[in-house]
Amino acid sequence: MPHIAAHEDVKANRVTRELPRGKGWRTNFLTFPDGTDVTEEPMGFLVEGDHERIIRPHYHENDQFQVVVDGGGAMGKHPLSQFAVHFSRAYTPYGPITFGDSGLSFLTLRARKDPGAQYLPELRDKLKNIPARSPWQMTEAPDFTRTGDVAVNPFTQIKDERGLAAYAVSLKPHATLAAPDHTQSGGQHIIVTRGSLAYQGKDYKAITIAFVKPDEAGLPLVAGADGLEALVLNYPRKNAAARKHTITAQSREFRVWQCALCAFVYDEAKGMPHDGIAPGTRWEDVPDTWTCPDCAASKADFAMEVVA
Ligand code: FE
Repeated sequence: MPHIAAHEDVKANRVTRELPRGKGWRTNFLTFPDGTDVTEEPMGFLVEGDHERIIRPHYHENDQFQVVVDGGGAMGKHPLSQFAVHFSRAYTPYGPITFGDSGLSFLTLRARKDPGAQYLPELRDKLKNIPARSPWQMTEAPDFTRTGDVAVNPFTQIKDERGLAAYAVSLKPHATLAAPDHTQSGGQHIIVTRGSLAYQGKDYKAITIAFVKPDEAGLPLVAGADGLEALVLNYPRKNAAARKHTITAQSREFRVWQCALCAFVYDEAKGMPHDGIAPGTRWEDVPDTWTCPDCAASKADFAMEVVA
């Protein structure tokens, strides 16, 4: 049976935290009875923070989705918009997460329990010594466009050969839809972002979090009276072989450098115009103060990519 909880069911769980860099709140959606072995149970919680808050670069030991619910800010150097989805593989550092002028609220979602954030730079060497990790992350905005009664719009970037996939679904009022298949994934989170999901006689309003394990029956999507928009997030299967990032073979006048922590690639030919670095800028001409746009690592943590 899927786990499912609406914000109105769990808002009493909200915990306030006074943090060194701004005030924050956390609300657990997916809770379990005392005594449950939660090792293999999913996580889903809402993180809220005021405009002064910054979460330092860190990584987790598990694959993770994050969904912006409200407000704005930045993930590393990438601006965040409402309902943008960030996926990070296990052992991929990301951040800092900067909370915008009106604050930022986002959901953190995992298919299994995680021991918590591992912060950089202090755990940089520990991270580098993790064998066979395959760091990768992506932020992508959903497309809820619908012309008929229902729409299922796959994300184009958030996908891999291990079952990772994400979909933006939209249903007109009272329409029904079988959720995208979850049986070949490592589990599926469903996030109601607008309207409501009717399930077992109850109307689950946004924001609602549900989780379906690979061996459980899929959650039927039934829209409430105001319709339904939801994100369907499929985790990769566990224990797949790590894949070494390779650059397509080509003769290059310019070189390619890769972040040893998060696998971000700096291509001298392309530069980083959004970061003020013109195309064709040599690595040695990139300022020493420049940091990785995904995980804030310094230039010293980059290595030249071997061109296959
Ligand atoms: Fe990086």
